[in-house]
Amino acid sequence: MRCLECYSENPRITPLNGARECLEKHRQYICSKCGRIVCIDLGGERKARCFFPFKSEEIAMLYLKCAEIITNSCCGIYELIYKRGDKRYKIFESENELNTFIAKNKNIQCENKNPVYKNEKFVKVSSKQIRYLAKEEVEKYLSEREQLGIK
Ligand SMILES: [Zn+2]
Ligand SMILES: [Zn+2]
Repeated sequence: MRCLECYSENPRITPLNGARECLEKHRQYICSKCGRIVCIDLGGERKARCFFPFKSEEIAMLYLKCAEIITNSCCGIYELIYKRGDKRYKIFESENELNTFIAKNKNIQCENKNPVYKNEKFVKVSSKQIRYLAKEEVEKYLSEREQLGIK
């Protein structure tokens, strides 16, 4: 079942790559319902992981809550089509932001300006859920992932 707070079906799936480094070095969002931890490091306004283009809508979904927290609003997941033919899924705060991105990136199109997914309501999280992890928390989370067969 999809977590009501962080929208993931798998409570230990993130980080997707370089888990230890991400958990040790980056600021994280900790879901209060399922305990999933998601990178919410801010290297600049739109440089957080959640604003990267993703390979699937499902993966974008794992980062949607972080985008909502950063923008303090309901963001949409949009399907982008690259000139070479492949699809990517990217989170934007608004259609305006999407249009600006498309205008700047001539090799990328968005045929359907409706988001493939967008929540109607943004539910805020506590500021205590956004922080760096203690060493023990990193170890605990990593061992929980290992038990589930996630590397
Ligand atoms: Zn990270
Ligand atoms: Zn959750």
